Amino acid sequence: MSTKNFDVVVIGGGPGGYIAAIRAAQLGFNTACIDEWKNDKGGPAPGGTCTNVGCIPSKALLQSSEHFEHANKHFAEHGITADNVQIDVAKMIGRKATVVKQNNDGILYLFKKNKVSFFHGRGSFVGAKDGVYELKAGEETVTAKHVVIATGSNARQLPGAEFDEELILSNDGALRIGATPKTLGVIGSGVIGLEMGSVWRRLGAEVTILEAMPAFLAAADESVAKEAAKVFKKQGLDIQLGVKIASVTKGKDSVTIAYADAKGAEQTLVVDKLIVSIGRVPNTIGLNPEAVGLKLDERGAIVVDDECKTNLPGVWAVGDVVRGPMLAHKAEEEGVAVAERIAGQHGHVNFATIPWVIYTSPEIAWVGKTEQQLKAEGVPYKAGQFPFLANGRARALGDTTGFVKMLAHAQTDEVLGVHIIGPMASELIAEAVMAMEFKASAEDIARICHAHPSLSEATKEAALAVDKRTLNF
Ligand code: FAD
Repeated sequence: MSTKNFDVVVIGGGPGGYIAAIRAAQLGFNTACIDEWKNDKGGPAPGGTCTNVGCIPSKALLQSSEHFEHANKHFAEHGITADNVQIDVAKMIGRKATVVKQNNDGILYLFKKNKVSFFHGRGSFVGAKDGVYELKAGEETVTAKHVVIATGSNARQLPGAEFDEELILSNDGALRIGATPKTLGVIGSGVIGLEMGSVWRRLGAEVTILEAMPAFLAAADESVAKEAAKVFKKQGLDIQLGVKIASVTKGKDSVTIAYADAKGAEQTLVVDKLIVSIGRVPNTIGLNPEAVGLKLDERGAIVVDDECKTNLPGVWAVGDVVRGPMLAHKAEEEGVAVAERIAGQHGHVNFATIPWVIYTSPEIAWVGKTEQQLKAEGVPYKAGQFPFLANGRARALGDTTGFVKMLAHAQTDEVLGVHIIGPMASELIAEAVMAMEFKASAEDIARICHAHPSLSEATKEAALAVDKRTLNF
């Protein structure tokens, strides 16, 4: 088979890789993208973890389960009778698969539109000669001067509790449970654990989340974490902090977890299914980095500098396989920046304004520094907070949990962090990201006209609260 020559070859078709490939093609490079993900029929399914077993399918299930909970618990408040509401889990999972396929097909369409050559199969280094890299692309051979690695990450295994995707589930199995389990255990109370726990709790499972850390949502602002813990408890999520797992034993139809609770007392939990969500590890399986001397760190991540350059000339790496937060939008931004740097432009990723979102109900979203970080760093700050309870749109929606909290520099008034727990926090945070990217002051946001009635008025009011002059609270 003949060798195909490209300017840029991208390995991995997740958000980091497919976006890098499209941007490189837009910039005039002859570009290929290699991705090995297979759909149920063995065909291509580009989009990576995010599209296939991550962001997209989890949000599809969160939406379905939220509809179910609304129909059961909240329709009556609106005068709507919905007796005997049932959930067809198989149909819900089928809908999720359709949403995933629409995204897979969308990426294949975008490759065609942008003239990106797509190879379905594994990409691996063969060697390098005169600054040109030779790679396997499935059954074919390709060469390029520039290689972008975007091979993502895999779920971290808990020693002694290997995934079988039947009883002990990674994110993959957690998104394919065929019937609501009566009892569900989750090890790890991070984003994935909370989102998956919420889905199955809403559908009727008794959910226990075991977390090793003594603090809940340690990365979030403390006031948000405190509010979230209160609300999730009320919803029926049993979140136990500071636990130490002793053993995980599989039975025929159940899993037994032996652990020490925060006080050191021995406990046993028996569940129908167990989700293990204790983080993710960078993935370079099959990449054959040794063939070219590509440097990895002790965690298995590809070593890159601030610009995503590896130790090899012309080889870049982006997304979950490198340092930094494992988020799809971070991977995308790095992908764009790398393509632009290959073109000699000044690619830009501002780590200080990357938003974080947890799609529970209420949603949680933040950008910038937390109050505890500002205190630790000795930065003088002012804080303003506005509750959704005092927001007209939230009342009309019937969803008044939570607040918007804004942190601004005490002297310059520059916005340093915004923390939201409440309805549509995932959408509201965009205004804060924009404001921080443009180095806005709290006063700037306070003086911008926000539509009434809208949830975004809570952000404006939080900005007013920084200067102790809220109008509606
Ligand atoms: P990936 O998306 O992992 O893509 C890597 C691709 O490379 C895969 O298709 C893989 O098959 C392919 N590949 C690997 N090695 C090779 C090889 N040698 N040859 C060919 N192909 C190869 N992030 C968010 O921002 N928002 C969310 O709401 C969110 N929700 C999530 C929910 C869950 C349950 C999970 C697990 C993750 C979630 N994430 C979310 C994280 C997000 O999915 C990742 O940060 C993102 O997918 C990383 O993108 P990536 O391009 O680096 O890698």
